Amino acid sequence: MILITGGAGYIGSHSAIDFIKQGYDVVILDNLSTGHNEIIERIRNFSLKEEVKGTLVDFINADIKDTYALNVLFNTYKIDCVVHFAANSLVNESVANPRKYYDNNVAGSINLLNAMVENNVKKIVFSSTCATYGEPEYIPIDEKHPQKPVNPYGNTKLAIEFAIKDYAKAYGLKYTIFRYFNVIGADFDGISGEWHNIETHLVPNILKANENKVFKLFGENYETKDGTCVRDYIDVCDLARAHTLAFEYLKENISTIINLGTGDGQSVKEIFEAVEKTLNRKIPIKKYGRREGDPAKLIANTALAKDIIDWEAKTPLDISIKNANEWEKTLKSLNAPNSKQKTGENFSKEAIL
Ligand code: UDP
Repeated sequence: MILITGGAGYIGSHSAIDFIKQGYDVVILDNLSTGHNEIIERIRNFSLKEEVKGTLVDFINADIKDTYALNVLFNTYKIDCVVHFAANSLVNESVANPRKYYDNNVAGSINLLNAMVENNVKKIVFSSTCATYGEPEYIPIDEKHPQKPVNPYGNTKLAIEFAIKDYAKAYGLKYTIFRYFNVIGADFDGISGEWHNIETHLVPNILKANENKVFKLFGENYETKDGTCVRDYIDVCDLARAHTLAFEYLKENISTIINLGTGDGQSVKEIFEAVEKTLNRKIPIKKYGRREGDPAKLIANTALAKDIIDWEAKTPLDISIKNANEWEKTLKSLNAPNSKQKTGENFSKEAIL
């Protein structure tokens, strides 16, 4: 059985879906602070379909800092591997409120690792980030690139990487650490997609633009092909599949650290134009100055992912855009004021009351 922390969030839910599609039984732990109970319900409904091989065995609404909940969980289910996504991930928020990030990301992950050690759970797949590299010294960025994060979010992810490596040496854990580049897209069956109460990411912000709300393009004077920032945009379903492969690899093999990206760079303008073309829609745009802390260019070297877990990105950009657009439509109905569905935030507030 696989434990997925943060499985009600964007990337965690897609990983849960992929494990279930591949026939694994999954337990999700999430405190619903940024994740959504409706996503859990959607995964559950999907996993109940006759043709679906795996199952969502349980959803535990708890925090990774909750030692009691973790011990009960590890005593109840025989967990073969923890796939650890639960984290706060807004760069600006991490600068304004580092305490929250050290508390939830670092202290929370240490608590999870301790519970794993206590309960003899030996495998972890960890969701890290290219933000641990900081300003790139060379492109494409391989896994040996120096790690010098430039914000508290990146620092907390790097701190957890260190902890995992030290725990592995001392307590015999095996790990895969994935460093993600820019994740986009949504599930092919429409089960999940990007759903942040504060949306900062490029593709959903382009898709959400309308006559009342322009898309804000941040910075046109970078040293790149067209002056806008270049990123490596990887589809969330491809990314999710890498986690399933990592678990299978870990059963027989040693620990590794792997970048997940496409190896290809797209500028903000190119993504914007691709959305307009794919959806045959004119999107209102307004040009702004640079957003603080944005490096000009981030592209992954993905050779190791191919070598080690035989993984590479497959989904073309236009398909990721179409899936993300379909999900935006679903999101409108989930967010509608008369919807019976509740947001994760409301749910957790009600749970506290
Ligand atoms: N971006 C933008 N408008 C937005 C959101 C993002 O111009 O509404 C730009 C951002 O400045 C960066 C790129 O799109 O150059 C990718 O940003 P995102 O937040 O999606 O990912 P990041 O690379 O910051 O993790």
